Amino acid sequence: MTVAYDVVIVGGGHNGLVAAGYLGRAGLRVLVLERLGHLGGAAVSERAFAGVDARLSRYSYLVSLLPRRILTELGVRVELRRRRISSYTPWERDGRVGGLLVDAGDAGRTAGSFRELTGGEREFAAWREFYGMTGRVAERVFPSLTEPLPSRAELRARVDDPVAWGELFERPLGEALERRFADDVVRGVVLTDALIGTFTHAHDPSLRQNRCFLYHVVGGGTGDWDVPVGGMGAVSGALAEAARAGGAELLTGCEVTAVDPGGAGGPAEVGFRDADGVERRVGARWVLCNAAPVELERLVGGSAPADGGGAAGWAGPEGAQLKVNMLLRRLPRLRDGAVDGRDAFGGTFHVAESYTELENAYRSAAAGRLPSPAPSEIYCHSLADRSILGPGVPAGAQTLTLFGLQVPARLFAADPAGVRQAALEGVLAALDGVLAEPLADCLATDAEGRPCLEVRGPLDLEADLRLPGGNIFHRDLAFPFLDGADGGPPVGRWGVGTAHPRVLLCGAGAVRGGGVSGIPGHNAAMAVLGR
Ligand SMILES: Cc1cc2nc3c(=O)[nH]c(=O)nc-3n(C[C@H](O)[C@H](O)[C@H](O)COP(=O)(O)OP(=O)(O)OC[C@H]3O[C@@H](n4cnc5c(N)ncnc54)[C@H](O)[C@@H]3O)c2cc1C
Repeated sequence: MTVAYDVVIVGGGHNGLVAAGYLGRAGLRVLVLERLGHLGGAAVSERAFAGVDARLSRYSYLVSLLPRRILTELGVRVELRRRRISSYTPWERDGRVGGLLVDAGDAGRTAGSFRELTGGEREFAAWREFYGMTGRVAERVFPSLTEPLPSRAELRARVDDPVAWGELFERPLGEALERRFADDVVRGVVLTDALIGTFTHAHDPSLRQNRCFLYHVVGGGTGDWDVPVGGMGAVSGALAEAARAGGAELLTGCEVTAVDPGGAGGPAEVGFRDADGVERRVGARWVLCNAAPVELERLVGGSAPADGGGAAGWAGPEGAQLKVNMLLRRLPRLRDGAVDGRDAFGGTFHVAESYTELENAYRSAAAGRLPSPAPSEIYCHSLADRSILGPGVPAGAQTLTLFGLQVPARLFAADPAGVRQAALEGVLAALDGVLAEPLADCLATDAEGRPCLEVRGPLDLEADLRLPGGNIFHRDLAFPFLDGADGGPPVGRWGVGTAHPRVLLCGAGAVRGGGVSGIPGHNAAMAVLGR
């Protein structure tokens, strides 16, 4: 067959767009095929509530892992706003109510907040020492993510800190947390970064929690999580523009139905159903897959799609989060009267995320029960950036996004809608527990009088976005070095290889994928260009 394109990209998520941008600018003929009616995958903004002009980052919402270098090289302008407040965690002890506030702009205030909780200076000193260590690791590891994959020994030498290497790369994270920190709330705040979208616990011998933690503390060489001004859709929109400007053809409403990976030296072929429902085939020298690796396996015909395994067990990738988007008429009042709500909700607001609560939540879910209290973290975009709200939205209104932890897909399998509702009630009840008034009293209503609240569980994310089992990273995150131990297909020097020489991963499922980073898109493009 005639080869029509140099590269066909399966999926128009932000990573597919990054790959298309680099390859188009290098002069290659590039076609992107996206099944949904819009580009961006899990990095999009949408008007989620009928008749309400609020463009919420529907799925992903904060940016840390996207290298400035990628934006510069693609000529993309995106404003990322630093948050002054890192986090706020309400607590209740011996009848006292308070909140641990981490204010990145005021060490004295943060020290006072630690003192109030723990009664001394030790815990804040331990905090500074630990995050000083992760900061040094971030400076050394982050630049390597857009370079050819180092070996384990090379990355270890680059980190050049045996203690950090042991704690983050070799031993279950729980060991370091229990050795370094004494307070249950402080330990929990640290542990949450190891559990985002990942069903695991502090002492998991597979180190899944360490890998998740690492990707949450190395971004940008600092570990900061910034607010994309205009919402996540502004990021994907700018990347799509850059890809178009580079000459790539971007088609939406086109579902890829088959990938023939090509023979020895022969071209690959991609079958897809176009926006008019017509079956088409197109040849390419390279196929880049922005969809998850299990989706690629299905398209190549190598295996059946992973369909989980029901409540009895779960095969294949699995996500473990609940996403709730809300619009409020105003921020709710807190039981902790000493903190301004704009500070508390300006960073990451932790609910029921002490170390013990997170571990208990894991155990409940592993035993087949929704956790209670339900752990979650909450964040208010509109405090940092009101540009996502149209002129018709009242001045005091705020968006709120809640990300629930430790709710694996397997719990939803038997009764998706019923369990989703129960999980929603669980996270809202836990949140109400730290508020001075019910959250329901603060919710705005849409044009039809319904509360502005949208909830998505792992199986909804699978249906919406083809995230397998709702896994937000397409599959378990990998350490950012060449492991060689997993027996899988050769990942190649850029970490994007598959079992098929002409087919590469360019999405979150690559080694050094996951999150809104553009990194696997960049790395797949470098592999094609032979750099
Ligand atoms: C609820 C939620 C919250 C998150 N929060 C954050 C956050 O705050 N910060 C962060 O950094 N990350 C976050 N993440 C993770 C992050 O969004 C993803 O890891 C990232 O978007 C992956 O990007 P991608 O381009 O690799 O893949 P995706 O965004 O998954 O895009 C893949 C695209 O491929 C398309 N596709 C799949 N199969 C086919 C097919 N057969 N034919 C054609 N097209 C196909 C899909 O429709 C999709 O558009 C979150 C994710 C979720 C779901």
